[in-house]
Amino acid sequence: MPATSGGADSDATGKKTAEAVQQEVAQEVSRLLQVIFAGVHKTGLTDLEAIEMAVRGAMHRAGAAALGQLLSMDSAPAPRAICGCGGQARFHSLRRRGLLSVLGPMEFSRAYYVCPHCHQGQSPRDRELDVEGTEFSPGVRRMMAAVGSETSFEQGREQLELLAGLEVTAKAVERQAEAIGAAIEAGEQKEIRQAKQLDLPEVCAPAVPVFYIEMDGTGVPVTVKERAGRAGKKEGEPARTREVKLGCVFTQTTTDEDGRPIRDPDSTSYVAAIETAEEFGLRLYTEAWRRGWSRARQRVVLGDGAVWIWNLAEQHFPGAIQIVDLYHARQHIWELAAKLFPNDERTRTRWAALCVDRLDAGKIEALVKILRQLRPDSDKLAQDVDNDADYFERNAERMRYPKFRAQGLFVGSGVVEAGCRTVVGKRLKCSGMFWTVRGANAILALRCCRLSSRFEDYWESRSRAA
Ligand SMILES: [Zn+2]
Repeated sequence: MPATSGGADSDATGKKTAEAVQQEVAQEVSRLLQVIFAGVHKTGLTDLEAIEMAVRGAMHRAGAAALGQLLSMDSAPAPRAICGCGGQARFHSLRRRGLLSVLGPMEFSRAYYVCPHCHQGQSPRDRELDVEGTEFSPGVRRMMAAVGSETSFEQGREQLELLAGLEVTAKAVERQAEAIGAAIEAGEQKEIRQAKQLDLPEVCAPAVPVFYIEMDGTGVPVTVKERAGRAGKKEGEPARTREVKLGCVFTQTTTDEDGRPIRDPDSTSYVAAIETAEEFGLRLYTEAWRRGWSRARQRVVLGDGAVWIWNLAEQHFPGAIQIVDLYHARQHIWELAAKLFPNDERTRTRWAALCVDRLDAGKIEALVKILRQLRPDSDKLAQDVDNDADYFERNAERMRYPKFRAQGLFVGSGVVEAGCRTVVGKRLKCSGMFWTVRGANAILALRCCRLSSRFEDYWESRSRAA
């Protein structure tokens, strides 16, 4: 049964047969190749890039036509569909619609229903295909989210054009990336609510020898509107940034031959958001639970000296070993030494080395004693010395480094600091970028999902929900 040109065979219900669709697509491919070969014949085979791009374009167009045929084939209309009002919508007509697919723009037709009670129209097929209320196919949306989470929306647009031959606007990349980030965040919030109600499912993961939680904060530049009324670091100046709180979770099974801890490969997952410490605490707790916190043999919280970090540790992770990042603590000493002996490098170095020795040895009381015995000239300096003495005193138990090392534990929070750069800085702190809190949080949710290797799960759960 040969297909007539321009149309495919239909069976009695108006559905095209699979054979006819195949034939039509083959004809389209053949036609496009003829056009390309004719062009090459004229210009010669010298510009490979032009030819390969032309062939890709042609194959995409043929593919888009095939996809449109396939989707239309399957629209044998049921007479009725359930309406949102509870009534029965009736088949109205087959309607065509456009969609940008990974093969480029395409069209397909699907059944359209209208409800006689509430007069609402709907196409259930759109919901099944996860293209309701959007002009982009799931494959294209996924690409937009991937590039939008990695780079500026404008660069993402360029990448889609170059790498996938898709023409979209930077604004569309932004909207899709943010929409997917927001959808991921909605899923997170659902789990966080369950955590709040102590209603999380028991984790079946294998027991973890050592489980680490690290937290840190890092500023992200925000729009003028988002800064309004918020104090900056300097008195009387508005804040230019808002703080992103970042948490990392990872595990350790073993140490190297020198007894130094080894982080389990690919065990790190991240959570990040601009939000209150209280909100962030629940987020991190939920993540820790998901990763098997309840099944850990040893639990460690690592951070710098920030008060909110230890408040959260007490509240959500009681009983965990608390460790102040050794390098932050050393930094305190070096900064104080620079203030105490600004013009005397020898004394400064000797004094700092002495203090760092005490610190590394976990002899915090001795270190505090050195600080308390200082008699600085100025009130300002005396205050700085006092603050540091308080800092070491307050954190003494979190600075027993020899004890922690003897247990083969990490004493530095390098993972969360690297996370501040890879999760946050690399995408959100590029020059000239100013974020809204909503936009930043959507992109953060997306980046955490991808960098925690959960993006695949998200798409699977999306297609299951359809
Ligand atoms: Zn209705």
